Amino acid sequence: MTDPKTTFKPEELLGNLRSHSFLSNYQLDVFSFRNGGSSPETGWKLCHSLLPAGLCARICQPAVEQALKSVVTSGQPAVFRCPIGLLNFAVPLNSSAAPLCCVIGGGVRERSLDLLKLETIARTEDINPMEILDRLQKLPAVSEVELLRVAQKVHSLIPSFQKEEHHVIYVEKTTEQLNAIVQVAADIDSAVTDEEVVALLSETIGILFDVPIIVVALPEEGDHSFSLRKTWGDTFFDQASLSTEKLRRVIPNYATDMTVIQSEDVEELLPGGVADMLTCIPLTSANELFGMVFVFDRDLPTRDLLITQIITGRVAAKLRQLRQKAEYGRETSISDKLMDVISSLALTEGQAELVRQVLEMGADLVNATSGSLMRVDDRGENLQIEAAIGMNLNLARSLNLKVGKGIAGRVALNGTPLLVNDIEKTNLGQGVNRPRFKTKSFISIPLKFKEQILGVLNLADKKNQGLFTEADLELLTTYVNHAAAMIVRTLSLERAEMLEKLSLTDPLTELYNRRFLEKRIEEELNRSIRQGLSLTVMMIDLDHFKQYNDYNGHIAGDKALKKTAKILRTSVRDMDMVTRYGGEEFCIILPSTIKREAIFVAERIRRGIESESFAGEEELPLGRLTASIGLAAFPEDGDTATALIHAADIALYQAKADGRNRITFSTPPREKEEPHEQEATKSA
Ligand code: GH3
Ligand code: MG
Ligand code: MG
Repeated sequence: MTDPKTTFKPEELLGNLRSHSFLSNYQLDVFSFRNGGSSPETGWKLCHSLLPAGLCARICQPAVEQALKSVVTSGQPAVFRCPIGLLNFAVPLNSSAAPLCCVIGGGVRERSLDLLKLETIARTEDINPMEILDRLQKLPAVSEVELLRVAQKVHSLIPSFQKEEHHVIYVEKTTEQLNAIVQVAADIDSAVTDEEVVALLSETIGILFDVPIIVVALPEEGDHSFSLRKTWGDTFFDQASLSTEKLRRVIPNYATDMTVIQSEDVEELLPGGVADMLTCIPLTSANELFGMVFVFDRDLPTRDLLITQIITGRVAAKLRQLRQKAEYGRETSISDKLMDVISSLALTEGQAELVRQVLEMGADLVNATSGSLMRVDDRGENLQIEAAIGMNLNLARSLNLKVGKGIAGRVALNGTPLLVNDIEKTNLGQGVNRPRFKTKSFISIPLKFKEQILGVLNLADKKNQGLFTEADLELLTTYVNHAAAMIVRTLSLERAEMLEKLSLTDPLTELYNRRFLEKRIEEELNRSIRQGLSLTVMMIDLDHFKQYNDYNGHIAGDKALKKTAKILRTSVRDMDMVTRYGGEEFCIILPSTIKREAIFVAERIRRGIESESFAGEEELPLGRLTASIGLAAFPEDGDTATALIHAADIALYQAKADGRNRITFSTPPREKEEPHEQEATKSA
């Protein structure tokens, strides 16, 4: 045990006493006869401020010492009067930690001053009696009886401070407690969940202050209630939540002050007779409430409350940090998800898939189980559901929605988002909840891009019958802004692709056109050169097609061209490029193909056209609609696109000249190839 002399702290004792309002008019001091001396522990200050220097020591001190001696000996408080009319009290400490000590109080005077006596003293001391009188009259006046009562009150307070064992233990305990808290603080700082933090908090308070039960209240989403967790002690307490409204009613300043509530208030707050008294400590950090700690049935002294506040402050700061981290994490995971959508976009073909994903991810973000994504049509008049969750898309598409009408229609018109907690309590012209929705809360957000409203995202039926919150709305607004930009981008990308495609295809046959051929043949040829592969160019021209048109008309001619295109497409591999070169002329590029292989393809085509029936073909010179084909190949017939096309053209003219409906190639197939009939394969 620590040496009592070093643990008795007169200033601490006096500080405690001074905190009591009934002592506010008094000057207090500790007087000790210890060590054979009579000087006060904290200096003899009682009268110095009241009387001229030295006067007190000369005229009062003997009387004071006499009185104190009797007090310390009797162990009872006493009141005594000093010769000039000041009143004092003395209260013994009766303590081995502070032997022969007493608390003295003064600074007041008796009601009726003995002016004659005062004058005598003044004259003896050669002081102006008026000066002493002036000072005395400024002091509060009390009767001896009143003062004795004050002394007795102080006496009754002393035991809680004066017992040396208690005091020493207290000091030691405080040090231990503070040490424990320093250690716990480190654990709190390294905790990663709210649960971990509140468990540490409860364990610390529970053990340090021997508390039977601790319950922690953590705010639930929406700020309407707190969820209650029994974090310390064993009890039948099983209440799961507490409404904010009730908390405010019972403890109006619950969010700012530590409050102790008793019996009826406890019963109202947590019904069921769980406790007689409850110490309610807010967990606040930077003026924000992160929870409440309810300490059951323990009247914590000021010092313990102070220690508790140190730890709750630390816990609140940690909870704030965890929440910020969670928010940051949530934001990061949102942008991760957005990144996912963007990358999956690159893989998915088209708007429909994007729109579906935008809806599904939006629903996922706020736990909605149903919803739709509507697009405003080009004229800005109608809304069309393009994706739906929780309802049949075809059915949804059949709904006729006008911009400006209904909830989504109004959102599409105004461009302001709508968060509804209870549809039946709004004046949205929706008397009752629509049967297809399970809950009455929903969110409707416009999809805007640069002030243009593209559509509306509607989400409803939050999981577990929950209500959508402002936080949900905020989250979705950010998300929808990204989504709208993405939709616009894919839309323009798709349009550009379509335009590009249009400009490279022939509308009649849907084959690539000559522009495309000129672009691609260069690329293919370069690749063939790099990789040392062959490439064959095939020119196809319908025979006597002018006559076919003349006999059968232009429309029949067009039909014949379409049929031919189909035969060409189905006769080649995927990697071959079939193009309409002009009029009734077609060109096919066959990468990685030597001329000999190409002859077989050409023959398949020639035969395909010849055997196909075309309306009115009997009138033609050959009795059928046929085609002539010319072939040229890289490397033997040229190493540029122009040279190869030219060579294939020459071969084609040769085929025409030779009687049509045949295949010709400009130079014979390569040496190492099997001997092959150079002349065209004639029609049967
Ligand atoms: P040859 O056997 O020598 O090739 O004789 P041809 O009549 O086929 O040759 P020519 O080049 O003199 O005639 C091509 C005809 O193809 C001219 C035109 O009437 C027809 N033609 C070209 N483009 C189209 C088209 O888009 N639609 C239709 N219906 N006919 C077309
Ligand atoms: Mg022709
Ligand atoms: Mg022609």
